[in-house]
Amino acid sequence: MDAARNAPVDVLVIGGGPAGLTAATYLGRLHRRCLVLDAGDSRARWIPETNNCPGFPQGIAGTALLARMREQAAVHGAAFEQATVTSLRRTAGGFEVQDESGRRWHGHAVILASGLSDRLPAMAHGEEAVACGALRLCPVCDAYEVTDRDIGLFGPWDAIVAHTRFLRGYSARLSLLPTDAHGDPAALEGMAARVLPAGGRLLFDGRRCGYVVEGDDCFWFDTVYPFLGCDSSAGLAAQAGVVLTDTGEIPVDRSHQTTGVPGLYAVGDVVSGLNQISVAVGQAAVAALDVHARLPFAPRA
Ligand SMILES: Cc1cc2nc3c(=O)[nH]c(=O)nc-3n(C[C@H](O)[C@H](O)[C@H](O)COP(=O)(O)OP(=O)(O)OC[C@H]3O[C@@H](n4cnc5c(N)ncnc54)[C@H](O)[C@@H]3O)c2cc1C
Repeated sequence: MDAARNAPVDVLVIGGGPAGLTAATYLGRLHRRCLVLDAGDSRARWIPETNNCPGFPQGIAGTALLARMREQAAVHGAAFEQATVTSLRRTAGGFEVQDESGRRWHGHAVILASGLSDRLPAMAHGEEAVACGALRLCPVCDAYEVTDRDIGLFGPWDAIVAHTRFLRGYSARLSLLPTDAHGDPAALEGMAARVLPAGGRLLFDGRRCGYVVEGDDCFWFDTVYPFLGCDSSAGLAAQAGVVLTDTGEIPVDRSHQTTGVPGLYAVGDVVSGLNQISVAVGQAAVAALDVHARLPFAPRA
């Protein structure tokens, strides 16, 4: 088993979300040996139903989409290991990765598709609220579904103000729920958005989210978007020698998804940009074709 693990594959894919699974499908169809190392908590698993993913006019649940994509990669020869990679380093022949239990794998190239983690509000049953759409994390993904509904924007003042204009295109019934002191109200001119007292907390009654400030009534919403930021997994790229930007992002050449470290690619949500399945999938296809072109020529016998 260890000998097999130590034989390098053509490409190690770190992350088995839409980006990593698409890369694996392309690599398999290019007759490249590919191993997907995945911790198993894709952002897509949160999606109750996506309606902007091409090819699913009636929508599809994130878990169902992931299952299909994984099956597609497996059909084309991708191998999988459940693993949380903790170390990524360059070697003479490519890369060595190690997981938290000390297992190691080698690959001539690496496609990093490890995504990011959303920061949820401190509230009971937050995951159930996401599952039923009472709490939503991505207006580009699903604000259409709450057109003309009561929408709360929860988070630091600057972050919620920055998203007000976009959401105003979906509803006239917006409320700002700041976690810190109100800033300049002039920033909301023309938005007709209600601003509630700062510092309240969110709760979930099994159907809707409410916002309550100590000693005050509870305000209920059809949906609440928290804007609390996220935690990136870009640190893995830094371990391999990528110099991250000042904001902790992986700089990539957008034409090839290369990182500047030869043989290391980054695709999907781990790369700054528009965090969407279609973008992740497109970047993965670009990276897979580029890595194929750079690996040693492999004619059929
Ligand atoms: C609630 C919600 C709704 C959304 N709705 C939509 C929508 O309708 N349409 C749309 O286009 N997008 C939607 N998105 C965004 C979409 O889910 C992401 O853009 C997409 O999942 C990104 O794919 P990815 O493969 O880059 O990352 P992910 O899907 O997050 O996959 C990353 C994978 O890497 C693994 N990983 C992380 N670190 C490691 C490690 N160290 N070692 C091994 N594996 C690791 C993770 O466990 C995960 O399986 C939504 C997101 C959320 C949270």
